[in-house]
Amino acid sequence: MLADAGYRACLVGGAIRDLLLGITPKDFDVSTDAEPEQVAAVFGRRARLIGRRFQIVHVRFGRELIEVSTFRADPNAGGRDDRRVDANGRVLADNVFGSMAEDAGRRDFGINGLYYDIADGCIHDYVGGMADARYRRLRLIGDPDVRYREDPVRMLRAVRLAASHSLAIDDAAQPPAALLELLADVPPARIFDEVLKLFMQPAAPAIYAGLRRSGLFGVLFPQTEQVLNGPGGGASEALIEKAIANTAARIEVGKSVTPAFILAAILWPAVRETAAAFERDNTPAMPALASAQAEVVAKQSARVALPKRFSMPMRDIWHLQPRFHRRRGKQPARLMAHERFRAAYDFLLLRAEVGEVEHELADWWTERQKDAASEGSQSDHEAKDASARKRRGGRRRGGRGRH
Ligand code: ATP
Ligand code: MG
Repeated sequence: MLADAGYRACLVGGAIRDLLLGITPKDFDVSTDAEPEQVAAVFGRRARLIGRRFQIVHVRFGRELIEVSTFRADPNAGGRDDRRVDANGRVLADNVFGSMAEDAGRRDFGINGLYYDIADGCIHDYVGGMADARYRRLRLIGDPDVRYREDPVRMLRAVRLAASHSLAIDDAAQPPAALLELLADVPPARIFDEVLKLFMQPAAPAIYAGLRRSGLFGVLFPQTEQVLNGPGGGASEALIEKAIANTAARIEVGKSVTPAFILAAILWPAVRETAAAFERDNTPAMPALASAQAEVVAKQSARVALPKRFSMPMRDIWHLQPRFHRRRGKQPARLMAHERFRAAYDFLLLRAEVGEVEHELADWWTERQKDAASEGSQSDHEAKDASARKRRGGRRRGGRGRH
């Protein structure tokens, strides 16, 4: 439709990359020389203008949402439409429109910088992306030092894409040790979005390994890294790896997953160690755990935002752990009635697997649930029988009443 209106329209970025690498793209992005208002005019009510700093247009095609962005130039390189920058200042700094070639140069990796022109079916390659795809390599466009400084999140993207797409990171594009700490200056909310992309996907185990190897994990989760690299860090590493592998396997078969579980596992080593330190200072176990949770979460939030909807269940998973040791009287039934019991129990299993608690304890809870389930289904049946009786009785009574 953009082409009918005299504009160029290209598929760009991840979708072209995935198609070339033999992967089914999960979404399609379009890039065009039409400005956002012009795109909106072409698509009418199906279009919605989004964003201010980086204005794009969302276009609805049935149930699909296509993101349409206008070719952009690097504003620092003296874009052609400086008026927009002057008139509107910083807000529109990223809305300096440019040519397709300029747009390609702003992208991160060669394989992410390819354009498929929808009208003529040609792939436009200004950045050597075709060769990168052929040799399955991940290469930064331009000078790696400059490009990583511009946006340190690209270091995380490099590790993620290399692992998820089986690409070799070009030597020059290996995240340099000297720049890792720059990630600490990126807003925590943006890092959180990226953390979800890193861990909530089937390739998460390989991504985690890449983050550890490159040192990026330590910048994201410094408190955990300290425990992992300290004495006895092996069990903690195993716990994190198992949590990540579990989630990845569940995603692969389409089961439900929550980031709260992964975050609970990643931060648990730091929480456990901090709680132990409080206990050495004679704080009783429960308050020690509570204080440790608060401290670890507060420090962590400076790096990675932890939205309440995930941090609340994460904290529940932690603070329910000591309650698994209380097996007398009504305590187990009460614990099992907790809305987060299932996640906390799964977490207990992980801890048992890495030797943090006795297998016997985890097994006891496994058995206990089986008992509860069979009791539950029995009482379910009884309840159904009772209500069926009641209904029948009710009808009878009603019947009698009518006669
Ligand atoms: P995914 O499969 O995770 O969606 P993607 O490459 O499509 O991968 P997006 O975040 O959707 O990632 O970005 C779309 C495109 O925008 C990328 O292919 C790339 O060309 C460009 N891009 C994204 N993030 C950056 C960045 N930080 N720096 C430069 N270009 C970027
Ligand atoms: Mg994408």
